[in-house]
Amino acid sequence: MQDLESVQGKVFNIQGYSIHDGPGIRTTVFLCGCPLRCLWCQNPESGTMEPKLFFMAEKCVGCGKCVAACPNGAIDIVDGKVKTDRSRCNACGACVNPCPVEAREIVGETKTAGEVFKKVRQDELFYKTSGGGVTLSGGETLMQPEFSIAVLRLCKEAGIHTAIETCGFAKWEVFSKILEYVDLVLYDFKHMDSAKHKEGTGVGNELILENVVKVYHEAKKPVAARVPTIPGYNDTAENMHALGKFITEKMGMDVKVHLLPYHHLGESKTERMEQEVKFSVDTPTDAHMEELRAIVESYGLNAVIGG
Ligand code: SF4
Ligand code: SF4
Repeated sequence: MQDLESVQGKVFNIQGYSIHDGPGIRTTVFLCGCPLRCLWCQNPESGTMEPKLFFMAEKCVGCGKCVAACPNGAIDIVDGKVKTDRSRCNACGACVNPCPVEAREIVGETKTAGEVFKKVRQDELFYKTSGGGVTLSGGETLMQPEFSIAVLRLCKEAGIHTAIETCGFAKWEVFSKILEYVDLVLYDFKHMDSAKHKEGTGVGNELILENVVKVYHEAKKPVAARVPTIPGYNDTAENMHALGKFITEKMGMDVKVHLLPYHHLGESKTERMEQEVKFSVDTPTDAHMEELRAIVESYGLNAVIGG
């Protein structure tokens, strides 16, 4: 068997001092690749495994150094504005260092589980004092099962609390193997109606709901339900009642519900990839979030707004 530390995976960010991805202070490792295509995706750079070029137009001073540096002739200055022809860009990174104002960045790289573990261990003291640990997020944790298992095993063997954030869309054989090394599952509930789920994410919710019941009853893992709350999509009383009913009937009263208000971070990332922002809605009001929370709590569940 390959030793755990040398297993490789694709990672687009490692964020320390995270307080929204599980209990205590955590390090969140964001993995590349996702089987869903949520309209409101907050991490559009994570959809595929390939690295991506970010261009921060607001920093650019139009010096043209990147144009000269690109081996593929992908960059041009048109009417004083720098444009990258994404069909010619292979994210080689040659334009990053010549830029004097750090307006260009490659997001997504190959790392070994050992490298990730070393980074996670740096904050071990904070985990101990705050009840925190490591959280694998994405993208989708289940898309890179061997790498996820290697990182989680290394952490668990070092006594570090482990959590995964997941959309739950994977074969149970894959999911169940990862769960052996997981202390807490942060599970996304995007819509309780399968047709609406497909409309917003590209897939129905049958497998996802089947899996979450297995996570809770078969694998016997603690589950926190995470509901990205998207105005005009899933922020209805009907959807919240369906959620409350599902959790109380199919799972248990210890499942805490987190209602996560939509925010605009994903839009600026889409702009950094020089793509058109196709989805944008207002952030839900505090009063509306409270109404939704009250509906979930009417089922006797503990519901909070935020992570
Ligand atoms: S990442 Fe490479 S191919 Fe893409 S624009 Fe920069 S230099 Fe050109
Ligand atoms: S090198 Fe940087 S500042 Fe200069 S044109 Fe390119 S992106 Fe803009």
